[in-house]
Amino acid sequence: MSPLTHAGIGLLGWQWADRKKTVGSLALFLFAANWPDIDFLFSLAFGNRGLFRHQLFTHNVFFVLAGCALLSLLLPRGWSRWGLILTGLSHLPLDILVVDTVAPIGIRPFWPISDALYNIGLFPTLQRGSWRVIFSLNNFLVLGLEFLIFVLPVLFLYRRSLAARFRSPEFWRR
Ligand SMILES: [Zn+2]
Repeated sequence: MSPLTHAGIGLLGWQWADRKKTVGSLALFLFAANWPDIDFLFSLAFGNRGLFRHQLFTHNVFFVLAGCALLSLLLPRGWSRWGLILTGLSHLPLDILVVDTVAPIGIRPFWPISDALYNIGLFPTLQRGSWRVIFSLNNFLVLGLEFLIFVLPVLFLYRRSLAARFRSPEFWRR
């Protein structure tokens, strides 16, 4: 999925689990939801090969648990921390749902214990390549669909509390 979907789930996790709800904890939840895609940044910098091949080494339970458990130490003990870890883990099933067009097809959620690749391929994927491909109608529609399914319901469900929070200068200060 694109960062848009993961951000929608990050917002849901934050709204549902975080006890303090500061702008800092929101950033943490958004980051945790996207954490496995850190390899995408590396693949942009170093090329999509070896350790940096997208979705090969960072899309597994152990990488997510290690990163999110560390990040969670920045939150108060209890439900906020568990919520952050669950938010990070949500990345894996979401990516399994997306059509994968680049071999190896799927992600390896249990690597290094198992090399098994998982992919259900129900959801259309964003196409990458030239600027023309990036700004294509296909990608516009995919992002629109992701927004409709994964972001809009969260914004709608929590519209009152989000609006009140975002309007409060207190929220932005902490
Ligand atoms: Zn991913």
